[in-house]
Amino acid sequence: MQAPAIPGTLCAMRPPCCEVCDERFDPREGGALVDFARDPARADWYRRAEDPLFVGHPPHQGWFCATHLDAARALSHQTLGVATRELQLIARLRAIAPWTPGHLRVYCRGGGGADWHHDFVVDPARPADALRDAIAYADDVASEADGEPNLAWVSDGERILARGMHYAERARSQTEESR
Ligand SMILES: [Zn+2]
Repeated sequence: MQAPAIPGTLCAMRPPCCEVCDERFDPREGGALVDFARDPARADWYRRAEDPLFVGHPPHQGWFCATHLDAARALSHQTLGVATRELQLIARLRAIAPWTPGHLRVYCRGGGGADWHHDFVVDPARPADALRDAIAYADDVASEADGEPNLAWVSDGERILARGMHYAERARSQTEESR
C-alpha cells in the first residue's frame, strides 16, 4: 500500500506563540495565524516546498495573540519580518509610559541600549505641525556614529510614521525624490 502524501506545511506548523509578545495562546480563545506578503528573498523555500514530502513552516505566516491580531492584519501587505519588527517597536513604545491620545511619541534608542522618548502634543487645528516637529527631533537624534548609532522613530501609537534620518540619509532621500 502506498503511503499517503504528507501535507508538509501542516505537519510543521509552529505552535501558536505571538510573534510580537512571545505569548503562547490557544487559537480557540482568540489570536490567529496571519498571512503576509511573500518575501522574494525566500523564493528558495517555496521551491523546496513544492516537494510533497517537504516539511516546514511557511515563512509568510505568523501567529498573533488576540491583543496584536488586528494590528498584524493591518500590516499584512508587508512581509512577516518587516511587519513584526514594526509591531515589536510599537509595543516597546507603548510600554514606555501610559499612552496619551492626541500625542506623537518619538522613541529613541541610543548606543549601549539607552532608550528615551519625547512626546509632542498634536494641535487638532494644525496636526501637521506636531508631525513636522517630531520628525525634526527624530532626525536630530539619528546619527551615523562609528560605534552604535542612535536611532529614532515617530509613532502615533498605532503605526510607525517616520524614522529619524541623519543628514547624509536625508540628503540621499531628497536626491532620490527629486529624480
Ligand atoms: Zn501578542
